[in-house]
Amino acid sequence: MTGKGNLIILSGPSGSGKSTVVFRAIEERSDICFSTSVTTRSPRAGEVHGREYFFIDQKRFDEMVANDELLEHATYVNHSYGTPRNYVEEQLENGMNVILDIEIQGARQVHEKMPEAITIFIMPPSMEELRRRLESRGTDTQETIEARIARARHEIQEADFYDYLIVNDNLDLAAKEFSAILTAAQCRFDKELAAKLVK
Ligand code: 5GP
Repeated sequence: MTGKGNLIILSGPSGSGKSTVVFRAIEERSDICFSTSVTTRSPRAGEVHGREYFFIDQKRFDEMVANDELLEHATYVNHSYGTPRNYVEEQLENGMNVILDIEIQGARQVHEKMPEAITIFIMPPSMEELRRRLESRGTDTQETIEARIARARHEIQEADFYDYLIVNDNLDLAAKEFSAILTAAQCRFDKELAAKLVK
């Protein structure tokens, strides 16, 4: 153990199954926590304030940006999303691995500030499958679904700066791959740790 946790950036289109993979990983390991974002979009059925997101209005969001309370922020299909800074910094200091489930513009911002972050892109097995998942969710209008598919296509084309790619065809396998990436990251050569071991 080196003391400080790893920051894990997980991106991928809405409908890629990202959040299911994240919640599975958190259930299975006590060394991982999830950074709950703020968003100005409305909750979907079943979403809980403080679990999936903190649902806030645009005025509060703008205040948080002005006060530098967000580590990164971006607009996604007409709504604002951002990562509260304090929680992430505190958890990393406490040695926890922190997962950010964020889209690609935010991922770029964090990657530039914190190049040691582990970046993982998760994709559905095909665009047809993505459409099927978004439609079967039954929570978005056709217009929003089309906008999300267009955005997904664009993100996948721009995703070449990520370290890892998971194709989520099978949830169990995707969750195992995610956990394996994290384990590998924890075993990256750490000079400080190596020096301590020979003292
Ligand atoms: P959804 O509305 O489907 O929950 O999320 C839409 C997109 O916003 C997803 O790609 C998700 O990863 C991204 N997202 C969620 N929270 C944040 C955040 O705090 N910052 C950024 N940049 N993207 C976020």
